Amino acid sequence: MKKLSGIFIKNDLEIGILREANTIVSRILDKIEEKVAPGTATMELEELANDLCGHYGVKPAFKGYQGFPYTLCCSVNEVIVHGFPSIEKLVEGDILSIDMGVLHKGFFGDSARTFPVGKVSDEARRLMDATRQALYKGIEQALPGNNLYDISAAIEEHARANECSIIRRFVGHGIGASLHEKPELPNFVPKGAKRIVLKKGMVLAIEPMLSLGSDQVVIMPDRWTARTRDNSLSAHYEHTVAITKDGPEILSTSN
Ligand code: MG
Ligand code: MG
Repeated sequence: MKKLSGIFIKNDLEIGILREANTIVSRILDKIEEKVAPGTATMELEELANDLCGHYGVKPAFKGYQGFPYTLCCSVNEVIVHGFPSIEKLVEGDILSIDMGVLHKGFFGDSARTFPVGKVSDEARRLMDATRQALYKGIEQALPGNNLYDISAAIEEHARANECSIIRRFVGHGIGASLHEKPELPNFVPKGAKRIVLKKGMVLAIEPMLSLGSDQVVIMPDRWTARTRDNSLSAHYEHTVAITKDGPEILSTSN
């Protein structure tokens, strides 16, 4: 595979496989969404995700990745990312972020969404909307010739305008034959960052994580679960996006 500034450039065939992998992730997230309700345990969603991976003939990408023990990251309320599925039942008003990755024909899919559990507070809704919109603002900047950090800037600006904090500890990434490739894609513009020109054939996982309070992260004793220091609510949306000559193509959609 060709590389530019250390970033893999995918050809149309490879993008085609990435599209398949990411479409499968999206279909699985659609099925999971139907089951998210008060009274459901996230472990049931984990079982569903495992069954669906079997159905689609894909390998869960996170299970075993640096020792992560599950197929899904299930992050409830103040948990930002990397939460474990649990037998505890969801309750009305929770928000649940699910991050899911698969390996398909040697290429990875990676996408995340935050779901409301029943009726949620206006504040929770505001956070979810702001985070999802920030993702789409970022995606709009994934154009050939743009700077990578144009994506970061768009996300940062939208988070600021909506008075949400950016979790700086976790970043987006290139994706392809590895789950995490160069470049890192922060959800803010790093000080002194050098311009990285986006080119057709680059594929990025863009994934803002925002909170209603602290931007500081606490890692729980299980060594994975990451929550906000002040226990404020956090949301996470992620799409895998290919840069084409005509602009961004979201690969992690079902239609
Ligand atoms: Mg992910
Ligand atoms: Mg990712």
